[in-house]
Amino acid sequence: MDVIHSVAALRERLERVPNNVFVPTMGNLHQGHIQLIDIAKPRAACTVVSVFVNRLQFGPREDFERYPRTLQGDFDQCRAAGVDVVFVPDEREIYPEPQTFVVEPSDLEHILEGAARPKHFRGVATVVLKLFNMVRPHSAIFGKKDYQQYIVLRDMVRQFALPIEIIPAETVRASDGLALSSRNQYLSVEQRKEAPRLYAILCKMRDELQAGNREIQRIELEGMAELARHGWRPDYIAVRRQADLQEGTPDDTHLVIVAAARLGSTRLIDNLEVELC
Ligand code: AMP
Repeated sequence: MDVIHSVAALRERLERVPNNVFVPTMGNLHQGHIQLIDIAKPRAACTVVSVFVNRLQFGPREDFERYPRTLQGDFDQCRAAGVDVVFVPDEREIYPEPQTFVVEPSDLEHILEGAARPKHFRGVATVVLKLFNMVRPHSAIFGKKDYQQYIVLRDMVRQFALPIEIIPAETVRASDGLALSSRNQYLSVEQRKEAPRLYAILCKMRDELQAGNREIQRIELEGMAELARHGWRPDYIAVRRQADLQEGTPDDTHLVIVAAARLGSTRLIDNLEVELC
């Protein structure tokens, strides 16, 4: 496995193997990331993983500085998973000058996660476009854990006609249902016990929808109220269309419930797809 720090060395390394598949990450790898690598591996001769904590996608009061950085462990996990190239650029490689050109995901930037985290998706889309130009993969794998991010990047690739297949991967969860996330380690022991409630509520909401209840607003409000009763501060819980994350019509059958809530100072997100027949 090659660990590469510069764009120049990356280009040289990948010239030999242009057939590559890409898994972008912010590091602190866990089983969710490893699943993306497992999906990537059989698709190309060369699997490239990037580890880069992208300042551009963090708000001024967010956790950029304290985001867990565990490079040695990440390398070990990548090696064990059969990764060929780990790209670990420092900030000067990705942003050698102020990034004055950005990708603006318009509609999606301003709803749900975008509303709660202004400029977040512009930061994500901009860095992913840059990484795509550096790695030049034929496919890239993204987790549905970050559902809106997946939709933003899928649409970016389509609208800019990038020759890259975006492949979504299911959310990997702990045995109690909590979606794996690098941010889970911010939780205290007590909070970690409480954290699976978020997914449990999404499941309850899905069951209500599948049982025929169409009072979407009431279902959303009840979900948020239940979180609040247990000490959470919900940002949103919303039932949306899978295709574009807009509010559905009564005829929509492919839905997703997206949620974000704070437990103490830790902000967790999760979602659950719901198929109605
Ligand atoms: P991150 O390092 O958090 O930026 O995530 C890198 C990639 O891993 C993104 O495509 C995430 O959606 C994906 N990912 C993170 N956690 C999970 C999980 N629990 N299950 C599946 N994919 C995940």
